[in-house]
Parts: sequence; structure tokens; C-alpha cells
Amino acid sequence: MEWEDLESLRFELDGEIIQLENGQAVVSYGGASEDRYTLQNRVAQGDLNGDGYDDVVAHIVLSTACTGTFHLVVGVIDNGKGGEAQAPVSVGDRIVMDRIEVRDRTVEVVLFDREPDEPFTVISRRQMLEIDFAGPEPAVAVIDSQPLESLTPPGPDLPEIDIRFDPGAIGAIVAGSIEFRQRQTYTVYISAGQWFSAELDAPLGVWLDVRLEDHVVASGTERFQHVQAELPATGPWKVTVVSAHAGAAEYKMAIEALPPGSEYPPATTPTESPDDVELPDHSLAPTTDGTAPVVYFTFDDGPHPVYTTQVLDVLAKYNARATFFVVGSLAEVLPRTIQRIVDEGHTLANHTWNHENLAGLPREAFDDTVGRTQAILGSRATNCLRPPYGSLDAFTREWASEHGLEVQTWDFTPGDWLQPPAVEIAQGLLDHARNGAIFLLHDGGGPRAQTVLGLDMALQELSSRGFRFEPLCT
Ligand SMILES: [Zn+2]
Repeated sequence: MEWEDLESLRFELDGEIIQLENGQAVVSYGGASEDRYTLQNRVAQGDLNGDGYDDVVAHIVLSTACTGTFHLVVGVIDNGKGGEAQAPVSVGDRIVMDRIEVRDRTVEVVLFDREPDEPFTVISRRQMLEIDFAGPEPAVAVIDSQPLESLTPPGPDLPEIDIRFDPGAIGAIVAGSIEFRQRQTYTVYISAGQWFSAELDAPLGVWLDVRLEDHVVASGTERFQHVQAELPATGPWKVTVVSAHAGAAEYKMAIEALPPGSEYPPATTPTESPDDVELPDHSLAPTTDGTAPVVYFTFDDGPHPVYTTQVLDVLAKYNARATFFVVGSLAEVLPRTIQRIVDEGHTLANHTWNHENLAGLPREAFDDTVGRTQAILGSRATNCLRPPYGSLDAFTREWASEHGLEVQTWDFTPGDWLQPPAVEIAQGLLDHARNGAIFLLHDGGGPRAQTVLGLDMALQELSSRGFRFEPLCT
């Protein structure tokens, strides 16, 4: 029996013949209702009936529109002339499969399950089943069932991590991987009265715990993935990611701590007023058709929990529309910021998944980083790709076009990522403003307070000169 044979497995379930093709079968009941069978990439092998031939045990997930997801275990007996599927055994709905093994002619299945009154997502016990496929009907027995509390954790808690925000920043994003029953604690120094927010992007079963000694803002048992509060005490707050998710889980977490008295989301609070800055007089750039001249502001490397919000506030103040070339992995953890960008009339474009340098990247990696970013933006994605570092090779444009994307560069950037004074950023923009100019600024990738303020100054002056500010990309 080969894997290919399993991909075209045929078996009978409740009197119905199910025929897999490429590991899948769809049984349609007309309209929207359908059952989908998917062969999982995990099989066990061994002699189930003692005839000397190795048999196979397949794991198939059955997704139904109405009743949920069921896990089927199918013994495929090989008698030397090919495999014959036995009647499938349903080992539960909404379980997490841990492992399937063949031992002494029986199949041992270990899975994580819920108590009957638990919500879907919380795994509360581990069960071990024994299935005997030798008889005319498979026989199932539960040979062990333990509540999770009685199981030892896989190892000690992960070492604590101190979070220090970049100078000028009031937020940070962290990422990690956590095993079942592990805890990862982050220490963040926060003053009493600061407005705190932690947002976790993780599978269900991974929760937040936020506390400072006996000040408990959120307990890990309360199953929060998003915590917002004005913190009642000063000190090293412990923000802990706890996992009740079976198996390893990847997570990302955005943390913010705003000054006391802040509103949420944070309002723009420039440290200098744009009115105090003297800018030289420039005459209005003429347009050939007599309409108001347009410049295109573009922002790379976001979204960021603080600076993107501030940039959006400034753009709104001048009724300006812009284009945000976002990093897909950040867009994934800040869905509300992404939606706000779209809701306020700006466009979203692709700046790769993890800010990869596209020059020299193999085709598969290119497709992955660009395709994943388009996918996370969904129908809000536009047709533009901006390669990080402006770095292209001979294939970049061709491969981009196969994703329906055009490479979009820029005419001028004031080098705001080097954090020059805001007035220099504004001056550079004003010096290069002409009809059709594309400007590059950054709303992420580092402290961007100067960018926010420089943008405010430049927009004020450009508005008074009659410029319009439009988005690129469609
Ligand atoms: Zn970039």
C-alpha cells in the first residue's frame, strides 16, 4: 500500500460509498449543504489481522456544514492484493488528534477532548482509545481518560522576557511559539494610570494573563485574547501567554502602554505645533489641464499600533488619502488598524509578509511572501507591490505580474526612517512637491514620531498651496 493508494481510498459510511480523489471527497446535498472528507497527513502502519501483510490506518476529517467536524479512523487491511477499507470509526467531533499507532494488532488513538459541558475550544481531558479492526465490525474501547489537571506539564515555564519599548515608542510587537500547558511571561514596566492594551493573535486555547502581584487585570482562566485597561499600580507588570491548546501554537502579541489620561485609541499629540515652524514660500506647481495638482503619499512597513493610528489622524485632518504598503505578518495581528485604513478611504498594498528582500529570492519563497500578504488583505488588497529596500532582480516584475501585481516605486523619500527632525522631513517633501509626485514615508519599522509631525507640517503647507492627496493602486 502506498500513500497514493490512500489518496484514492474508497470506503463505506452509513451505507454511502465515499471515494477520495487526491485525498478529498465532497458529498453535496444540493444547495449550500455539503460534507467534505479530507485525508490527514498522518497514517499508522502495522499488521492488524495477523496475515503477515502490513495494514494501514488512515485519519480522515469530515467537515459538515451543520453538525461540525468529525474525526474518522479507517483501518485499511492489506491481504497482499491491495487494501480494503474497513468501516470507519468516528472518534469524536471537535477533538484534537494527538497520535495514532498500531500496537499488538490494535490501533491506539490518543486525543484531546472536552468535557461534555465545555465550550468548543477548551481541551479538558486526554483520552486513549483502542480500536480492533480484526473482527467483522471495528470494536472501540476507551482504555484511559484523564483530566488535564492530572497530567504533568511538558516542561518548565519558558524564561521570562523583558519588554522595553524603542525610544519614543509606546508599543511593541512580540512573537513566539508555545507548547500545550506552557506559560510565557513578558515583563513590562508600566506606571499607575497608564492605559494598557494587549492583543493576542493565536489559536483559540491560547489566552492572556495580566497581573502585578495581587492586582489581577485578566486571569489566564478567563480566556481573553484581548485585554484593555487603565492599570491600577506602578511596577513590572507580568503579561503571560498561557496555552491550553493541544500541540505547539504560534502567536503574536501587540502591547501598548499609553500615558495616563489617554483616550483609546491614542489621539495625535505632536510635541511641537506645525504653526510654529517657518517654511519657505513655494509657488503652486502648475498642471497642464488646469486642475489642482496631486501628490501621492505612500507609507511603508506598517501597520503599527501607535504610529499608523497617528498617521491616519493627521491624514484625516487634511482630508488626504494615501496608500499603505503593509507587511502581511503585521496586518495579521492588527486587523482593526487595517480596517480603519480602508474605512477612511486609503488603499492597501503589498510590502511582503515579513519584509523580505525580494532580490535573489527563489520562486517558491517569492510566491509565499507575496501571496500570503495578498491573502491576508483579501478583497481589500490592491494591485501594487513595493519590494522592501526597493530591491528588485530580473524576475521581480514578471513574477509580481503573475500575482496580478505591479511594482510600485517612489519619486522621493525624505529618509524619515533615519529619524531626522520633523522640519527636515517636511522641508524635503515641500521641495519635491510637483504634480504627480509619489512620496515614501514610514508608519512602522521604528519610532516614527518625527514622521507623524513632519507629515502634519507638509500637509498643512501643501494644502494651502492647493495640492490634492490621492491614493495609488486600485
Ligand atoms: Zn519597507
